[in-house]
Amino acid sequence: MTLFEKIIARQIPAAIVYEDEETLAFRDIQPQAPVHILVIPKRPIPQLSKATPEDGALLGRLLQTVQLVAKQEGLVDYRVNINNGAGAGQTVFHLHLHLLGGRPFSWPPG
Ligand code: 5GP
Repeated sequence: MTLFEKIIARQIPAAIVYEDEETLAFRDIQPQAPVHILVIPKRPIPQLSKATPEDGALLGRLLQTVQLVAKQEGLVDYRVNINNGAGAGQTVFHLHLHLLGGRPFSWPPG
């Protein structure tokens, strides 16, 4: 069971800011911006590249949750990031979208 499955199951605590039948959003324990929230599917897809066509609606749902949570947090401008694979910085192998806001962001990212 991954760390995020344990958060879904309430086996380890997290600052949950939004939940519905298919998605969960909680604050990152090591925030990289004043607002740093992780949005995850309850279905355990390990990483974006492992999603299947059947996951299409769920992937859309995740972006809708990001949109909703950003609004809830009062964010107008924000960044949404997915690290896919260890080489891209992924450390937890349960798909998650990073919602970052509350400060300016530069481009390209590091
Ligand atoms: P990744 O590096 O896989 O894209 O992102 C994993 C994120 O999970 C990191 O930003 C990290 O700070 C966060 N994280 C790791 N362990 C925990 C935890 O126990 N609770 C919460 N809320 N976030 C965590």
